[in-house]
Amino acid sequence: PKFIFALITKKQLNLSDSISSLAGIGPRLQEKLMHIGINKIQDLLFHLPYRYIDRTRLIALGELKIGEDAYVQGKIELTQIGYGRRRSLLCRISDGTGAIILRFFYFSKSQQNNLKRGETIRCYGKVRKGKSTLEIIHPEYRLLDSDSETEIGLEKQLTAIYPTTKGLQQPRIRRLIEQALTVLNNDKKNMIELLPKDILLEQNLPTLTDALEYVHRPPIDADLESLINKKHPSQKRLTAEELLAYQLSLLDLRKELKKEEAPVFKKSVQLIPKFLKKLSFELTNAQKKAFATIESDLNKSSAMLRLLQGDVGSGKTVIAALATLQAIEENYQVAIMVPTELLAEQHYKNFTDWFKLFDIETILLTGKLKKSIKKIIEEKLKNKKPIVAIGTHALFQENISFSKLGLVIIDEQHRFGVHQRLTLIEKGQKHDKYPHQLIMTATPIPRTLTMTAYADLDHSIIDELPPGRISTKTTVHSNQVRDEIISRIKGKCELGHQAYWVCTLIDESESLQCETAIATSEKLRKKLKNIKVGLIHGRMKSNEKETIMKDFKDGKIHLLVATTVIEVGVDVPNASLMVIDNAERLGLSQLHQLRGRIGRGNKESFCALIYQSPLNKIAKERLRVMEDTNDGFVIAEKDLELRGPGEVLGTRQAGIPDFQIANLKRDSYLLPKIQEMARQLLEKNPKNVRLLIERWLGKKHEYSNV
Ligand code: ADP
Ligand code: MG
Repeated sequence: PKFIFALITKKQLNLSDSISSLAGIGPRLQEKLMHIGINKIQDLLFHLPYRYIDRTRLIALGELKIGEDAYVQGKIELTQIGYGRRRSLLCRISDGTGAIILRFFYFSKSQQNNLKRGETIRCYGKVRKGKSTLEIIHPEYRLLDSDSETEIGLEKQLTAIYPTTKGLQQPRIRRLIEQALTVLNNDKKNMIELLPKDILLEQNLPTLTDALEYVHRPPIDADLESLINKKHPSQKRLTAEELLAYQLSLLDLRKELKKEEAPVFKKSVQLIPKFLKKLSFELTNAQKKAFATIESDLNKSSAMLRLLQGDVGSGKTVIAALATLQAIEENYQVAIMVPTELLAEQHYKNFTDWFKLFDIETILLTGKLKKSIKKIIEEKLKNKKPIVAIGTHALFQENISFSKLGLVIIDEQHRFGVHQRLTLIEKGQKHDKYPHQLIMTATPIPRTLTMTAYADLDHSIIDELPPGRISTKTTVHSNQVRDEIISRIKGKCELGHQAYWVCTLIDESESLQCETAIATSEKLRKKLKNIKVGLIHGRMKSNEKETIMKDFKDGKIHLLVATTVIEVGVDVPNASLMVIDNAERLGLSQLHQLRGRIGRGNKESFCALIYQSPLNKIAKERLRVMEDTNDGFVIAEKDLELRGPGEVLGTRQAGIPDFQIANLKRDSYLLPKIQEMARQLLEKNPKNVRLLIERWLGKKHEYSNV
């Protein structure tokens, strides 16, 4: 029996074994690890350090720099309690080259007693500027037996610091990863290298095993700075692999969708020619070009999946109308989904206006409709009659089903999540044919992001505004000149101009935003006696909002106080002024969207951005970008640079995946390379594609198999 026991304990572990087979992992620790996504030994290896500290050498106190993480040693000169703004324990140490203070806001009596004058102390922490000398607040520390111990306890490598979870300490997770690295060493064959050699050579990247070993145990002479900035080739290798997996998953998704059979819509010979004849304007060349592509997509039996980008006001709605007519002419149903009720109402109005030439049934479907009306609509959709259904995401709630859905149009896609997009796709799949999809967005998406977040779509751009537009003049002001701005608005409104006054809030709390808008409208009403001030916000009833928008459109309201509900889609060409209060709270792209509500007519338009002073220099400079350019693409690039992809793609949405290690803001410079690598891999090693997707996306990729 003894012999067998020895065999069992010597059993070689594999990377795919459960972490429970590692020494020192009991059920509770296992649960904690599973909580952070670590199930197999291999998962530990992909649990990467988020930073490193250098405990390989001590730094002389005289050489410390502010902001640096320092590992230092010195003799205690004095320990006493300081009474400043906050009581703290101060401990002054020196090493002959200089002296610093260790400061503890939380301390025990015994701690105070232990830090005796003359003791040698070793500590680690971030150096900051104190009143008279440099200090470290709450350093990690340890008392040494003697001063001569300088070589003892120094690490041989940079110390990796790992993301962790409650009750799981760094040393513990570090020991587990040590074990995993040993398993890796014995089981290298199972850590399959999925990137071909020539790609690695070409991109100057290490192999997967080398990269993993390096990032977990960087050698003593590693370039700490590049490691900290996550630019070391080993990190690049791993980041690139993750981005590549994501890119491939989108391409794969697209391939699957392209296999779906969609109805073929012939070029319209009746509705569209008639519609264009009656339309009050001529399409711009960019619009013509965009529609020509869509028209031919719809004429194919594989499902269209197209993203139409066009700056605010470039005229995307009419393109949606044309696509709709093409589907209706073939007796199919069309669903148009928008992010806000206000926009749904506006589109509904536009489409019924436009389509009154024809006998086309158009319905509005929002969450706020009465149950009885919803029932009627549900019944209608079950009929195979052609119909245009415009609405919010209520369009795609469980009990609503389209019997002959041929085209789905999603307007202002950036306000929806990828997830919602996918539910739509599933909705369409319940029928024998799969609907075409047209996705429209006014948020110019920087190329790098389009490649990542929307690689599953084809792209069209409307890169031209309708003629006669005069670009909006934007100015940035501190709230100290608010009264002056109000009086200028007054003057303009008295001359017949119309204005928006937009109230913003930091959080997304709609009710708080509404309250601010209500208060602001009351204040403005008091100040602007002979001007008609209106108010619109998200909590108003549908018909109230409709009335207000109609009054504003008809010129019965001069100044419309609004929350950011007007951000998307609202179209009142006569409005030529806009004030955005607390503009510093919004992203540049969002400001650009808002500003796009004006400058739609033939008047010169003005937008005043008011910030709450004081505002720091960087934030002010950020707002100045709005003064400098009206180009949504430039603004989006700047937003990406300053605030990251979440802001550009919309914070509300899950448009950007949860990467394990990649960070689109930091790593976007890799994306062009990734695209190239994806292409090469699909061509040369198609077998590795699925493995790569599984390694990094695992279960998350299931949707591509639905
Ligand atoms: P967006 O692309 O922001 O959705 P809209 O579709 O709301 O833009 O169009 C903005 C305004 O421009 C609308 O009033 C629309 O009627 C008008 N418009 C669209 N295309 C043209 C055009 N080719 N010529 C003149 N006006 C146009
Ligand atoms: Mg629009």
